[in-house]
Parts: sequence; structure tokens; C-alpha cells
Amino acid sequence: METKAFQAESKKLLDMMIHSIYTHKEIFLRELISNASDAIDKLYFRSLTDDSVGMNKEDFAIRIDLDKDARTITITDNGIGMTAEELEHNLGTIASSGSQQFKTDNELGDDQQIIGQFGVGFYSAFMVAKRVTVYSKAFGAAQAYKWQSEGVEGYTIEETEMDTHGTKIVLELMEDSDDENYSEFLETYRIQGLVKRYSDYIRFPVQMEVSHRKLKEGTEDEYEEEITLDTLNSMVPLWRKNRTELTEDDYNNFYQEKFMDYMPPMAYKHVHNEGSVSYDALLYIPSKAPFDYYTREYEKGLQLYSNGVLIMEKCGDLLPDYYSFVRGLVDSEDLSLNISREMLQHDRQLKLIAKSIEKTIRSELVRMVKNDRDKYEKFFEAFGTQLKYGVYSDYGMHKEELQDLLLFASSRGEKPVTLAEYVEAMPEGQKEIYYASGATREAIAALPQTEAVLAKGYEILYFTAPVDEFAAKQMMTYKDKEFKSVTANDLDLGTEEEKKALEEKQNEHQELLTEMSAALDGKVERVALSSRLKSHAVCLTSEGDLTLEMEKVLNSMPTEKKVQAKLVMELNPEHPVFARLTALQGTDKVAKYAKLLFDQALLLEGMPIDNPAEFSELICELM
Ligand code: ADP
Repeated sequence: METKAFQAESKKLLDMMIHSIYTHKEIFLRELISNASDAIDKLYFRSLTDDSVGMNKEDFAIRIDLDKDARTITITDNGIGMTAEELEHNLGTIASSGSQQFKTDNELGDDQQIIGQFGVGFYSAFMVAKRVTVYSKAFGAAQAYKWQSEGVEGYTIEETEMDTHGTKIVLELMEDSDDENYSEFLETYRIQGLVKRYSDYIRFPVQMEVSHRKLKEGTEDEYEEEITLDTLNSMVPLWRKNRTELTEDDYNNFYQEKFMDYMPPMAYKHVHNEGSVSYDALLYIPSKAPFDYYTREYEKGLQLYSNGVLIMEKCGDLLPDYYSFVRGLVDSEDLSLNISREMLQHDRQLKLIAKSIEKTIRSELVRMVKNDRDKYEKFFEAFGTQLKYGVYSDYGMHKEELQDLLLFASSRGEKPVTLAEYVEAMPEGQKEIYYASGATREAIAALPQTEAVLAKGYEILYFTAPVDEFAAKQMMTYKDKEFKSVTANDLDLGTEEEKKALEEKQNEHQELLTEMSAALDGKVERVALSSRLKSHAVCLTSEGDLTLEMEKVLNSMPTEKKVQAKLVMELNPEHPVFARLTALQGTDKVAKYAKLLFDQALLLEGMPIDNPAEFSELICELM
């Protein structure tokens, strides 16, 4: 018979399984039981809408058989089964479901992480077995098939006989060694314990023959062995259990297993909701954003169950986009089972559930902001951008919902602040919420425009993410305080006298300023004197809604139409450079100085300059 090779990636994973020093080899049982349960789920779900299946819920079961002499564990299910093609595809190639790209050797961390990351599934059998044989007959098919493998060398598939549909997996255990005891998996109590620990909530009975010692009838001290087929799991799904019965570990294990995350979640929430709509839900916030989170590939959604039966793997309608990071499941009796995807979107019950879940998520986040700040900051690092997009998107429709969940870096210190905290700390006389945009905290702190605001004792929010400023524009105000860029031309910081003095000075030097503005050839609206600069000679500010930072972001998008901020070049009248300019007024040097100053200001803003060669020449000329 022809031995087929595993797909390259599968081979690597398999190899890792076989040589695994993973301490939790026992999870192989959980993985195989989960697969069996999924296979039954598929057929059970079909039976609900298709009478030809001819099975009731009670007819489904998973069975474990132990054979000490043959050193085998056999796991049998009467689920949907696999065709030859499915055996080939599902067991010959790495779990395509995980969609995780297999990492190259040098990226491999410890076993534990990788195994967790993949969810590994079926291949985990090779952590304990030297040979694995899978017998399977797809529901409705006439022919059964046998798949067999002893590891990386490859596998065979051949025809076989089976009475009924389903799958039977036979593991021939490895020999015990000095460090590893595989024989323990042939002990009834050990298997009972494992099923209880990892698979208790599996909704179908996991059965095994268990021998009990019982008193022989008619005697008082004679015992006999009686063998009964016991159901090892309680079959109550975790989410149906009482919160008081469950530990953090229960919730975390369930999450990691179900959603194939190698890290425990950052937070979880178990909801039993009764009222206009009743449902149970388990909601989780992952510790880290999935690698594809900020891409189009990422699909939001919660698993949707109707009365314990999975009807949809990812129901996107249950989560608003800004909470798309939440994972988990919802189970409701109020949903019809044979509802189609299209109908579901218009389902009133589903809408009510979605609303209620959104509220729950929000209040959990609000709670974290207040009472669990360190955790919330970590959360925000991972998913805050999504919340900011939420504020910005749909024309600001959700800003009320989300504004108190935002964190921003600030001039106050290392720790980010909420808007409420910012407003609370505003000194008397401060009317607006000041912000400055830039690539990093350091770059922003060095902006000339921040000097005067900070000198006043006002705090500045540091917008380091491109979306920040757009979110602020969308909010416009927070608690009636307007958001104001420190680079806005109409910053209202000085006293009346100061303003008047500046105006006079401006008039006095108007000719020089016009001369400079002309030299800049339409790049700025005008050149003006400024009261906001302290140590710097020059800065750029913008008139109107569009700031330079926004211009940068917008123009980096692949659109035809480019935008341009209305710029004003502001000069520090107290700076020696300005004194020099006044001395040079009327000479051709003024134009050169104007260009240099403008380019300098651009560089300070982290913007590219139009003509680096000219800039360099001008500097050399001056030097
Ligand atoms: P995953 O369960 O993450 O998809 P596995 O490697 O555990 O990855 O299994 C691969 C696929 O093989 C499953 O998705 C399923 O289609 C199929 N499979 C595994 N076990 C069974 C089974 N007992 N009955 C039917 N199909 C199965």
C-alpha cells in the first residue's frame, strides 16, 4: 500500500509532538473528545432540521475503551464521520482551521506556547501513541476508510468495514521509559479524572466501562465485580453552571481551549441574563491582540448557541465593531434553531441580546478604568486604537458611549490619562482641552508650540496615534470643553495687554512679514509674530480645522485628492534670529531666511521638506 507523505508543515508539527517534552501530554484526550463532540454536533444539528438523519439527542455518545493487554485507548463517536478525502485533508495537512501560520524553526519558543497556540488537536495523539489508526465512515456514505500513521514517515488510507457512521480512533501507546509513564492512561481512574477535568461540559455523554465492586446478592461479605457503562462527564456546559461553582481557572482553561489562545484572557465575564430576553454568555477579553486583529482578515463575532446547540461559529451581529476584540459565546433559548444567517440579522431577539451584551462589555470596561487601572492600561495598549476608531466612525454616533473609555498620553507624566481626569485637573482659567500630535511622546514634547501652553501650567494630551486627532475632531468637545491643537492659530493664551502689544509689533514689522510670506510662494497663508514661542525661533500653526498632522495622515491614504492645511509661519519676536531679519529687511537675504525657517519648522513637525538640496545649499551659504 502506498504511504503518503504529510504536508511539510504538518510534518514539522508532528515531529514536535512526538519529541515533545510538553508536560501536559494528557491533553491529547481532551483534544480527541472535543473533535468527537464537534463531529456529533454537526450531525445532531443536521438531525434537527433533517428527519432523514433519524437520530435523537439521546442516541449520540462518545465512548472510551481501554485495553491494557494491547496497550490501546480507543475513542469512538457516532458523529458525522469523514470521507476518504476528508481523512486525507483533515489529518494529512495541518489544522487549516487555526489559520495560524506555522512559525519557522528559529521562531519557535517553548513547547508549551506552540502547543497552546495551535490548539494542536488531532496530532496531540502522537504525544502518547506510537501508532494511530482512525476508522471513519461519513454519514450517508456506503464505504468506510482506515487511516493509519506511525508518525512523520507518513500515513496510509485504505478501505475498511464499519457498521455505522462515525469515527473510531485507536491509539497504541508508547512504551514507558524512565521519564515517561504512558501506562497510566490505561487506568480507569486516570481517564475518569481527565474527562472530569477537561471535558466535563461536553454536551454529549462520554462513556466508559467501569467495574464496580458490589455485594453479592444474598450474602453479607461476598463481593463481585460488576461492569457498567458510566457517563464520565456532567454534560452541563460551563456557561450554564452557577458562577459560584466555578473558579478563575475553569473560566481561563475553557477560554484557552475553546479559542485556541496560548495566553489566559485578561478579563472574563459570565452573564446569566433574564428579562426581556434571556441568555447565558461568557465574554472574554484576550490578553493580546491577535496577530491579524488590525487587518481585514480578522472576523469579529461570538459563538451563538440556541439552547446548547451551536448554530453559528462567529455571529458578528452580536458585537459592535469597537468591541470586536471580545471573544466568547452566547446561548439563548429564545432563538429559533433553524434560523438562517440572513434571517438572524433581522431577528429581534438577537438585537436585544446584542444591546445587552454591549452594555455588559461597557460596564466591565468602565469598572476596569476605575478599579483596575493597570490592567486597563494593558488592555488599552492592545485594543485602545479600536475604541478610538469607534469614536471616529459612523460620524461620531458612539462617542458618548466610548469617550470615557479612552486613554491618552499626556504631558503630566508617564501614565496615560482619561478625559475626565484631564478636565478635573484643569486649573482655573483654562478653557480648552489642549493636545499636540506627533510620532512619539518625545517628538511632541520637543514641539515649539507646546512651550507656551506648558508654561501656563496647562496639561497637554499627546496624540501619538494617527487616529487620535480624528477622534478628538469627531468629539469636538468633552464636558463642554473644546479640543484645541496647540498648533491652532487661534490659541487664546495671552492677556489682553499682551495681545495688544503683539498686534502693535506686528503692524510695525508688517512689511518684513509680507516680504517673507511672498518668498514662501503660497506655502503659507501668512507669516506672523507669535507670543507662544519661548526658546524657539519659529513654528508652524494652522488655521481652520485641518492641522498639519491630519494633513500628513490623510495624504498617506491612497486617495487621489490631496489635502493641504492652511499654514501660518509664526516667528518669535524675542529671538535673535528675528532681530537679524529686521536688520536684513529689504535685501535678498530675507527670502533665503524665510525658506530656511520654513523648512526648519517643517522638520520640527516631523514633515518632509520640499527641496532638501536647496535647504542644504542655503545652510552652507550661510555658514
Ligand atoms: P481542529 O479540531 O482544530 O480543526 P484537528 O487537527 O483536531 O484540528 O482536526 C482536524 C479536522 O479533522 C477537524 O476539523 C475535523 O474536520 C476532522 N476531525 C477530527 N476528528 C474528527 C472526528 N472524530 N470526526 C469527524 N471529523 C473529525
